[in-house]
Amino acid sequence: MYLVADVDVDVCSSTNCRLCTQYCPESNTILFDTERKSAYIAVDRCKGCEICVGICDAQAKHHAIKMVWITDLDNPFEIRNHGFKNSIVDLIPKTINGNAAK
Ligand code: SF4
Ligand code: SF4
Repeated sequence: MYLVADVDVDVCSSTNCRLCTQYCPESNTILFDTERKSAYIAVDRCKGCEICVGICDAQAKHHAIKMVWITDLDNPFEIRNHGFKNSIVDLIPKTINGNAAK
């Protein structure tokens, strides 16, 4: 069991901020959902370094990110891909050699 970052969408979407998305050392881990106007975390990639928490608290001063036990998330091992359009998720082939991919 380990800690991952979790964005409070209500708080984040009330700001006009994308600051944390520039600081996560892991690529494609903090992303921005343009429909919900909020940052979100691809929790399967998060290494729990807490840099984003420091950025949101100390730099952006919005306090929208908290570290949570991954087991406390609703779908801990499911990639959170809401708003994640035209991404690698959408590029996964729906069929392989004419057969539906499983
Ligand atoms: S720094 Fe905080 S308020 Fe800004 S985009 Fe990230 S989570 Fe949202
Ligand atoms: S805790 Fe670290 S790895 Fe996880 S989203 Fe925040 S900055 Fe990225």
